[in-house]
Amino acid sequence: MVGDPKHLSDLTKIEADVRIVCRDCRYEDDWTVEALTRHLRLIGGNTTWSEITRYMTCSRFGCGSRRLKALVVPYARRQPNLKRRIGKYDEQLIGAAVGVLQDIVARSPGREVATLDLRFALLVVHRYIRDPEPIRELWERAGNAQRPAASGLQEPMAVIRYRLEQGGWLAPQVLPQDARRWVWDSPPPKGWLPRAGTIRQDN
Ligand SMILES: [Zn+2]
Repeated sequence: MVGDPKHLSDLTKIEADVRIVCRDCRYEDDWTVEALTRHLRLIGGNTTWSEITRYMTCSRFGCGSRRLKALVVPYARRQPNLKRRIGKYDEQLIGAAVGVLQDIVARSPGREVATLDLRFALLVVHRYIRDPEPIRELWERAGNAQRPAASGLQEPMAVIRYRLEQGGWLAPQVLPQDARRWVWDSPPPKGWLPRAGTIRQDN
């Protein structure tokens, strides 16, 4: 095919998926043609190629930008609607580093945790985010057992996570859909999930 497709359904013929890219935060969302067609119908959108992103918003938590563009991608080897494609090596390295950081942050209250494994994990994430500030901050706080609860390690950790998400290195939290759960005894109204635990009454 030469140039842009005219209609979303054209992609089925050339065996391609759609990638919606946010021009503001660079988040990438991959969709199959069927899933995107369904979604557009739901939000009252249009499946003409040039109109696809008109009613869509960026689904990365905290962004919601409407400045999106649609790209044609060959049938993706990854599942639709995940973070942007990164190398397996980067993925494992970042996953391991973030895991180490989260463990240490979880057991940090009231303790000095400036250990060698923390330093190692911070050096790894330093390669992927362009902001040394939260890394320096976390390391400094880790070395001080007397830190007040208000200046805990969670705060710089959240910034590091956010920077990794911004760069597309880490899958961001996406806006929850259909997650409204009714918490009262009364029957749930339309569009709400029943109260948790009500299904297993007979056990
Ligand atoms: Zn965005």
